[in-house]
Amino acid sequence: MISLAKQLSSEDKADVPGEIERTGSAELAETVKKATAVIQNEDGKIVGSVSIPTDVVKLKQMEQLQKDFIANMTHELRSPLTSIKAALEILGHEASKPGDSSRSILNTAIRNTERLNSIITDILDFSKLQSGKLVFHQENTPADEITREAAESMKAWATSKGVALSARTELQIPYVYADKRRTVQVLINLISNAIKFTPQGGTIEVSADAGRDALANFVFFSVRDTGCGIKKEDQAKIFEKFVQIASGEKMGGTGLGLAITKAMVIMQGGKITLDSEPGRGSTFRVSLPVYKGQTDQPVFEQVTQAGPEDKSWWKKLIGI
Ligand code: ADP
Repeated sequence: MISLAKQLSSEDKADVPGEIERTGSAELAETVKKATAVIQNEDGKIVGSVSIPTDVVKLKQMEQLQKDFIANMTHELRSPLTSIKAALEILGHEASKPGDSSRSILNTAIRNTERLNSIITDILDFSKLQSGKLVFHQENTPADEITREAAESMKAWATSKGVALSARTELQIPYVYADKRRTVQVLINLISNAIKFTPQGGTIEVSADAGRDALANFVFFSVRDTGCGIKKEDQAKIFEKFVQIASGEKMGGTGLGLAITKAMVIMQGGKITLDSEPGRGSTFRVSLPVYKGQTDQPVFEQVTQAGPEDKSWWKKLIGI
């Protein structure tokens, strides 16, 4: 970056970018437009300008480098973490004799590697979203498998917290057109929040129901908890990146979970809604399209090909 202060020479003193274009390159005029302050004399007349021109191409390269760095680093962080967790689990089996106190120490270590892993996953997914590399492989997927897999993988944590977690799927529910792994991940994000914000003795119900009448083209997944709930004024905010609402106890996390979750739902042609009352609990509902013989075409790629004006919705969502 270079700093540039100059006396204006054109007739139209307010035309700063025009002035720079006349004396410099068109590209410079474009960037300078965004970072120019005019200098006025005591009578308020514009007598000069101070600009900080930036090299757009270099800036873009730097941004890309930064995104690639985060994506690579998170990937690198995950591999040793996986092997630490495996080693701890093996030690856990060895230390399973009754009365062995190292068992609970190992459990704490395993729980913390899982937490770290989920934070790294959030950062990795977020950086993939930012660089447009999050691709979905949608196919015909049984809704009950999604519900069951998500609930089963969170059961042990819920039980250890004294929260009852149950799952049910309506009989003969249609298949959804979804990326199974990503959709299980969506439900896992919602269930893990539900566990975090539901006190001991509470309940969490995960379910899948077919939409009726005008909504017959959708399947609705719900995660209902009896936790602390979310105030009306915070309900839209929590889907923004880095937003965490003070809910008494500090719960950790990145504040990225719901922003990523919402992006993953929208990119698959679905919607996410929230119904919550402080002190009574929350219900997050995710709708996804019913499978009607669609081909496996990543929705996200269709979106990026649609033109810059159509891309803005997801950029706005994740704040880039
Ligand atoms: P994090 O990854 O830090 O949990 P999220 O984006 O998943 O961030 O959630 C943002 C905030 O939304 C949380 O900090 C919490 O205040 C609120 N929240 C999310 N789910 C629930 C829930 N089931 N009950 C109460 N509050 C919730």
